[in-house]
Amino acid sequence: MLQVLNPATEEPVATVPAATPADVDAAVARATAAQRGWAAAAPADRARLLRRFAAVVDDHVEELARLEVTEAGHTIGNARWEAGNVRDLLDFAAGGVERLNGRQIPVAGGLDVTLLEPLGVVGVIAPWNFPMPIAAWATAPALAAGNAVLLKPAETTPLTALRLAELALEAGLPEGLFQVLPGTGPVAGNALVEHPGIAKIVFTGSTRVGKGIMAKCADQVKRLTLELGGKSPNIVFADADLEAAAAAAPMSFLDNSGQDCCARTRILVQRSAYDRFLELLTPAIEEIVVGDPADERTQMGPLISRAQLDRVRSYVTDAAEHAADIRGKAPEGPGFWFPPTVLTGVAEDAPCAVEEIFGPVAVVLPFEDEADAIRLANATEYGLSGSIWTRDVGRALRASRAVRAGNLSVNSHSSVRYWTPFGGYRQSGLGRELGPDALTAFTETKNVFISTEGPAL
Ligand code: NAD
Repeated sequence: MLQVLNPATEEPVATVPAATPADVDAAVARATAAQRGWAAAAPADRARLLRRFAAVVDDHVEELARLEVTEAGHTIGNARWEAGNVRDLLDFAAGGVERLNGRQIPVAGGLDVTLLEPLGVVGVIAPWNFPMPIAAWATAPALAAGNAVLLKPAETTPLTALRLAELALEAGLPEGLFQVLPGTGPVAGNALVEHPGIAKIVFTGSTRVGKGIMAKCADQVKRLTLELGGKSPNIVFADADLEAAAAAAPMSFLDNSGQDCCARTRILVQRSAYDRFLELLTPAIEEIVVGDPADERTQMGPLISRAQLDRVRSYVTDAAEHAADIRGKAPEGPGFWFPPTVLTGVAEDAPCAVEEIFGPVAVVLPFEDEADAIRLANATEYGLSGSIWTRDVGRALRASRAVRAGNLSVNSHSSVRYWTPFGGYRQSGLGRELGPDALTAFTETKNVFISTEGPAL
């Protein structure tokens, strides 16, 4: 049984049965049967059903958002955005169905065409930090491309996923096509990874678990997309609009209590602007409203669990021996609360400066010049996101080319749009989701040559 707790109060919300390998086996059989009919259906019919699913989700945005607040501690504003994102992704993927075209390639002696075929059954393993959108990033395009999906949500956040599966049936999606299997990673997650009936795994989670899954997928040369951890830089050059950069910095790492793979937790500031930037940043951090996630005014809620709270606390306690910090406010328990925290004066290679903490904690490090900024920005094993603040267009472009990360923004912290590609360089991941090629990632390309010259090689 999985015990779901409200992270803002520590009160039990629900218990959910955990799937066993036998449950996964049965789900794969049902999904395989459903996928055959789905892949054979007219593309326009698939698109119509996905649009209907989007409309049903739209009717339930408030309900899904409240569920997300209760099981994940997200602020109600964020949770509404997340439920709306699921609807938008389904709509976007439905639009892609009719554009999923192969190619005709000129050849001598015949006709050559490429077919984009669905993979079959796709296993999606999701984390707890954005349970709904991340599940939908893979599920919507996979379904649109003609696949079935088995989704394993994280142990702590199964409820929104289970509700989405009910809404899919309400919208008329075939039974078995989209199933949710709550369970633990080592049992249900691993059963999906090892199952020969699953053609592709889309894993979003920690780099450590992702590496293990990649090794297991190798046994079957199973298709794999990995969306892993991050430790993203926020580079502030002295010529930037410092007021704007300092005003935007807090929520770039405090959104979702810092439990965001794109969180800009390494604030790199040019030395000549360092003191002024900290002067501006300090009140901005202190003013962040932390508290009841269901309150419309709240900007930051609790962490997901006691384990996560302990992890965040240990990084800050270790760093505090050598560093100064700027602290915001947080409620006292019950609930898994940690205040917004900015560490200054830490070593460039301190654990808090290079490892993913996944909490409301950032470090500020000074740099000398452009080359030094790029060196520091690239000085972690990750490469997911990053921001560059400058008024110099040439510098913005040079830095964008030099930072080794998949999603950069200039004078902004925006990382995720469903119509643009998303994914990590280096140990932040493998493959891309979202964007114009989202559906193609769930197809296999087959080339067919048709001879017009009779039998020949
Ligand atoms: P996690 O790796 O602990 O778990 C993620 C999922 O994998 C869960 O569903 C878990 O049950 C499952 N799992 C765990 N062990 C498994 C195993 N042996 N086999 C199969 N499945 C297994 O990660 P988390 O703590 O839930 O999520 C936080 C992490 O996710 C952070 O590192 C964060 O950066 C990352 N993340 C990345 C992105 C991205 O798009 N790059 C987005 C969100 C979160």
